[in-house]
Amino acid sequence: MKVAFLFIDGVGIREPAPDNPVNPEVCPALCRLIQRHGVPIDANLGVDGVPQSATGQATMFTGRNASQFMGRHCEGFPGPSLRDLIGRENLFLMLKARGKKVKFADAYLIESADELEARRFKSVTTVMALTAPETVSTVSDLADDGAVLQDLTRETIRDRYPDIPPIDPEDAARHLFDIVRAHDFTLFEYFQTDVAGHSMDYERACSVLREYDAFLATLIRFTEAAGITLLMTSDHGNIEAMNERGHTRNPVPFIAFGPGEQELRARVKSLTDVTPAILSLI
Ligand SMILES: [Zn+2]
Repeated sequence: MKVAFLFIDGVGIREPAPDNPVNPEVCPALCRLIQRHGVPIDANLGVDGVPQSATGQATMFTGRNASQFMGRHCEGFPGPSLRDLIGRENLFLMLKARGKKVKFADAYLIESADELEARRFKSVTTVMALTAPETVSTVSDLADDGAVLQDLTRETIRDRYPDIPPIDPEDAARHLFDIVRAHDFTLFEYFQTDVAGHSMDYERACSVLREYDAFLATLIRFTEAAGITLLMTSDHGNIEAMNERGHTRNPVPFIAFGPGEQELRARVKSLTDVTPAILSLI
């Protein structure tokens, strides 16, 4: 059983509204997945205030309620106690312990995982990937189309890496699918949705969602034909309410499409259930 896990940052579920760009005109593939293969799940984790990335993602990838562990929702990069929690046990380590081949498909602009270790600020997924350094994708992997850049099209590195040509979102989906086929579990993280959500710029949010949708539409054609399970979830709401600058307390979608999808959807009610559900499937 192979799994592709798309983590999309800052996408909640909310009724249609003039400032909600998550609608079928902007992102038809995403909306169809949410409608036919998704369930709304809780990202507030029983803690007051708006949910944040460090604790939301730590919860998603450990199965432990990191917001309750910290006593609050923590923003941005995880501090020492959260890093410790992620380092002790996480989805990559648990899959590896079961003999599974795991890959983090996002390309880091580095030559080796050692350079990543030296970084002062590390995201939740970076901390997790470093517990299993063979999961890390480098700039050489990207140059060989064996990794995907976080922006999908490589537009953001055009000047820095003139030898790595820009690609379409559809090409990014093809590259990701090749990685997915070669591993038991592949993670791809996309955070431009959260960045756009904070901008309060509705047009910018639409253009980010359109680009991601082109990528998603291609990817699901491939995973469906290959019988590969596609999972997708988010750490907190944001982009679905463009009139608010910060995150929201809206539910987030948990999408499961492919073998085992019904059992997965029945099992996942909040971010704490994501890792246990994946482990039960694989
Ligand atoms: Zn954010």
